[in-house]
Amino acid sequence: MRVEVNQELCISCGTCIDLCPDVFKWNEDDKASSLMDEVPVDLEEQAREAVESCPTEAITDV
Ligand code: SF4
Repeated sequence: MRVEVNQELCISCGTCIDLCPDVFKWNEDDKASSLMDEVPVDLEEQAREAVESCPTEAITDV
């Protein structure tokens, strides 16, 4: 599983970082971005929750 944050859609609410801090972090533009190319299996559930909880659907899993 891979996750990507659409920087145009991210409104910097912090939900994904609260839910899954091992995968998402703030970047230099104060938007969320993914820390890794491939999400480890043990973090997939958390990452999916973040994808589903993003209010602007800015995160896609591929
Ligand atoms: S949950 Fe969505 S809008 Fe909020 S910080 Fe994460 S990517 Fe941005």
